Amino acid sequence: MTHTKDSDYAQRLVDEQATLMLGARLAPCLAGGAVLYLHGDLGAGKTTFTRGIMRGLGMNGTVKSPTYTLVESYDLAHSTVYHFDLYRLADAEELEFMGIRDYDLQGAIIIIEWPELGKGFLPAPDLDIEIRHAGEQRRLYLTVRSERGGAVLACLQQQQQQQ
Ligand code: ADP
Ligand code: MG
Repeated sequence: MTHTKDSDYAQRLVDEQATLMLGARLAPCLAGGAVLYLHGDLGAGKTTFTRGIMRGLGMNGTVKSPTYTLVESYDLAHSTVYHFDLYRLADAEELEFMGIRDYDLQGAIIIIEWPELGKGFLPAPDLDIEIRHAGEQRRLYLTVRSERGGAVLACLQQQQQQQ
């Protein structure tokens, strides 16, 4: 799945630190909840970007990659975060058995790696984010998918201007 052509925002990420930094800048814009789909090959930097978001939300502990658990949740002072990695999901219906419908997703920050594997069982995205290899570096493309997503992007652009 490629979103690069119709993306609303693009950013070069020169190293891991830049990926973490952009995640951290996005974090305050996610207050109140948002659904982020993270696309990109293995090793593109989806989990790294998520770690940046968590750091920006004030999480100091480790953010484990939920490769085997499929989901990790974090109860923070001001928000609940669900971090999904569906790479090892054999069938989207497994999300039903995991009880995804019982999760209180309202107002939560929901970050989903490999969302195409959970199609039909996931909340709709506010933002599609794609990270692509660009030599040793990366490029990140962000596409707005809802009004809420538009507000998040406007907030991010404001954060970027203030730096
Ligand atoms: P994914 O979750 O997409 O499979 P990870 O975040 O687990 O990828 O791994 C990404 C790898 O790429 C890590 O080794 C990380 O240090 C590195 N990385 C992250 N962002 C960048 C970047 N902007 N430039 C170069 N390397 C990066
Ligand atoms: Mg990952």
